[in-house]
Amino acid sequence: MKIIIHGGFFSESQTNQEVKKAKQDALAEIIKLGHKYLLSHTAVETVVYTVHLLENCELFNAGTGSQIQSDGKIRLSASLMDGKTMKFSGVINIEDVKNPICIAEKLLTYEDRVLSGKGAQDFARENEFKYYNPETPQRRREYEKKLSDSIRLGTVGCVALDVYGNLAAATSTGGKGFEIPGRVSDSATTAGNYANAFAAISCTGVGEDIVSGAVASNIVTRVTDAMPLAMATEKTLNELKPYDGFAGVIGISATGEIYHADTHPYMVWAAYDNGVEVFA
Ligand code: ASP
Repeated sequence: MKIIIHGGFFSESQTNQEVKKAKQDALAEIIKLGHKYLLSHTAVETVVYTVHLLENCELFNAGTGSQIQSDGKIRLSASLMDGKTMKFSGVINIEDVKNPICIAEKLLTYEDRVLSGKGAQDFARENEFKYYNPETPQRRREYEKKLSDSIRLGTVGCVALDVYGNLAAATSTGGKGFEIPGRVSDSATTAGNYANAFAAISCTGVGEDIVSGAVASNIVTRVTDAMPLAMATEKTLNELKPYDGFAGVIGISATGEIYHADTHPYMVWAAYDNGVEVFA
């Protein structure tokens, strides 16, 4: 059993060193809870549970505390992939909900599994996901001061390998911050979140770069074709170099390889590898 989580990137300025420490402390708590949960749950159940905890933590740009878009609204995107059934589900740019990853989980059993905007919100209400405003005073202050460039990154993700050998990945984001309404994040696409029987990947970074490199699905395909996870990840991230692509990745392979890599400093992540906590 293995689990790895990320809390996206943060900027390297002095103030953000404090933010980094706070995010690492939060990840250290959440990875413990996620690991405990994995002891008695499947990989899919665990990635949903763990990402929902990350969404509830105001420090991250997902769920509560998400970035505000250019028109002053928060829109959330999240996705889930079950490596066993190869089912992918997600919500794109949904408003006024608390845990988009739980709506993605609900959609996993439906025929139509990726919903956007109002359709996603209507589906959420029909399924008893109540109205919730994910805005925090801190995000509003940042928005008013147009600080998006320094703090905009902080998507969350989780990848798990369960006791049955099954893999799953989940990713959730408030987007880049200040984006044009309607902009689609990578986080609810197979470029940002992908899993099969061989590997599972969750990404963070600039969505446009991640989509251009089809990062998560490319890494998983390479592992499926017998490349070790570390090599597959490095090769895929190298392919972003010609356009200075900005991406960070966490992943686990079915053989138990667990890996993190990023193209730029500094990404926060934590893992439990064979009962031992790994943390950076
Ligand atoms: N990938 C996310 C997006 O582009 C942002 C992030 O990872 O922080 O929407």
